[in-house]
Amino acid sequence: MDYVFKLVVIGDSAVGKTQLLSRFSKNEFSADCRSTVGVEFQTKSILIDKKLVKAQIWDTAGQERFRSMTGAYFRGALGALLVYDITSRPSFDHVPRWLNDLRHYAGPNVVIMLAGNKCDLEVMRSVPTESGREIAEREGLMFLETSALDATNVEKAFLSVLEHIYYAN
Ligand code: GDP
Ligand code: MG
Repeated sequence: MDYVFKLVVIGDSAVGKTQLLSRFSKNEFSADCRSTVGVEFQTKSILIDKKLVKAQIWDTAGQERFRSMTGAYFRGALGALLVYDITSRPSFDHVPRWLNDLRHYAGPNVVIMLAGNKCDLEVMRSVPTESGREIAEREGLMFLETSALDATNVEKAFLSVLEHIYYAN
C-alpha cells in the first residue's frame, strides 16, 4: 500500500522556496538563479515505518509575488513548509498572512513546518531565532532554521512534516 502526501511550499517571493525543494528532491542548489520559476510539483519517495510514502511537493510559479495563489494550489495539501528568510524582516512579518491563507484553503489540520531559511547568512540576519520559535509555539507549528545553500536542516524539515502526517493518519 502506497501513500501519497501532498505538500505545499509557501512564503514570500525570493525566500528560497524553489531552492529548498530542489535541495530536498534532487540535492541541488542553483546559485545564480534569482527567484527561480519552478515546475508544478516534485515527487520524492521515502520510507517511513517500512512503508513507501510518496511526497508530492508543490512549488509556486512566482504567483506569490502578487499573492494570487489560487485555492487549487492549497487544496488537498496535508502538509506545508512555510518559509521566510532570516535576512528579510518583511518576509517574516508576512508569516501570519500565509498562515491564514493556508489554513483557509487547506483546512485547520494541515501539518506546518515554519522554516527560517538562509541561516548560512548569519552576518545578515535580521530575524532572531527566538522570534521564529515564538510564533511557531503560539501557532502550533514545527520550527527549524534551514539553508538550501549548505543543506542545513532541509531534509529534516521535509521529513518531519511527512512523518507527522504519517503518524497522524
Ligand atoms: P523563491 O522565490 O522563494 O522560490 O526563492 P528561490 O528559491 O528562487 O531563491 C531566491 C534567491 O535566494 C536565489 O538567489 C537563491 O540562490 C537564494 N537562496 C535560496 N536559498 C538560499 C539559502 O539557503 N542561502 C542563501 N545564501 N541563498 C539562498
Ligand atoms: Mg520559486
